[in-house]
Amino acid sequence: MNKKTIRDIDPAGKKVLVRVDYNVPMDGAGKITDDTRVRATLPTLRHLLDKGAAIILASHLGRPKGGPAPEFSLAPVAEHLSALLGREVLFAADCVGPAAEAAAKALKPGQVLMLENLRFHKEEEKNDPEFARQLASLADTYVNDAFGVSHRAHASVEGITKYLPAAAGFLLEKEIDFLGRAVGQPPHPYVAIIGGAKVSDKIGVIANLLTKVDTLIIGGGMANTFLAAKGYATGKSLVEADKIGLAASLIKDAAARKVNLLLPADVVVADRFAADAVHMVVAADAIPADCMALDIGPASGAAFAAALTGAKLIVWNGPMGVFEMDAFAKGTFAVAAAVAASGAVSVIGGGDSVAAIEKVGLQDKISHISTGGGASLEFLEGKVLPGVAALADK
Ligand code: ADP
Ligand code: MG
Repeated sequence: MNKKTIRDIDPAGKKVLVRVDYNVPMDGAGKITDDTRVRATLPTLRHLLDKGAAIILASHLGRPKGGPAPEFSLAPVAEHLSALLGREVLFAADCVGPAAEAAAKALKPGQVLMLENLRFHKEEEKNDPEFARQLASLADTYVNDAFGVSHRAHASVEGITKYLPAAAGFLLEKEIDFLGRAVGQPPHPYVAIIGGAKVSDKIGVIANLLTKVDTLIIGGGMANTFLAAKGYATGKSLVEADKIGLAASLIKDAAARKVNLLLPADVVVADRFAADAVHMVVAADAIPADCMALDIGPASGAAFAAALTGAKLIVWNGPMGVFEMDAFAKGTFAVAAAVAASGAVSVIGGGDSVAAIEKVGLQDKISHISTGGGASLEFLEGKVLPGVAALADK
């Protein structure tokens, strides 16, 4: 990577403000239900502490309306992090102003301070320069380890880099490394699997990947729009009528580029969108008028799995069906198993796809699971993320 990372800086004796993405899910009682995002930053934090830095952590949590809201306090996350790190994590009741300044000033090497939710100030999302300057004034150096917000030009992600030397943390570095392979100079054969509900969410990704991949597999709800583009009847399936023309041109584009475009040859159809709906497997060109396709069929699952044989790189974004319901999860799980067994470098992005791989317990067999849904999509579209662009060059 051509951006500075924490390996390129000497943080000894410095106060390092680390932007993390601790936007974790919590239950009603403020208990963290999934701490993956917190754990993912531990290598960066341990490295900085080992090198003799003091750490100031800044994050957002939830969607407070630009003012303090106790239900979005980061205090429970500070407590949880303290348990994970095995050391005290101090907490400042605000991220800027007197409370933050006093706590940051008193901070000694080896100590960790967490600031209260950045989004208690509307200036954060507005990338307000004065707010960014106030945040920066707490520290000597800035580290971005929050990939999930790096597609946003917010004060703690972009603005702050105008006031402090800025480097990437290990988590951000890993994201850029793996996602970078997908859009940079990928190894071949390179297979992308794109699914999920709607084509419209992922047009940019499909268009960009078509210029990179050898094989593009399309499943999930969005496949229905492609089937419609081929002239098939799609019954009551989720189809974006205004995107059928676009799907047709993507099919043409794939052929022109000699990309092997795979669509489902069979689908699981149901009479309604429900876990207990009556369902059956039909050929993709034989979807009954009163049915909707909610998963790829077994022949498609086998064909998609076979298309991964010998691949050097696989990128997967978007489930193959309504995997939240057991009856329509088989296609997604078949693809998950095939990706895990492929021996290729594998990269998975997208909140629901990650949930699916975790549901089958195969996450350890994947080379890289992206921590940023929206950010990973923008990266795969080939966009430059403002939070990454703002870091110092090597
Ligand atoms: P990701 O979060 O991995 O990027 P998306 O959010 O794009 O994935 O899509 C996931 C959603 O798509 C899931 O909630 C799933 O139920 C839905 N979905 C998948 N296939 C279908 C289908 N055939 N019909 C309707 N919804 C579908
Ligand atoms: Mg999703």
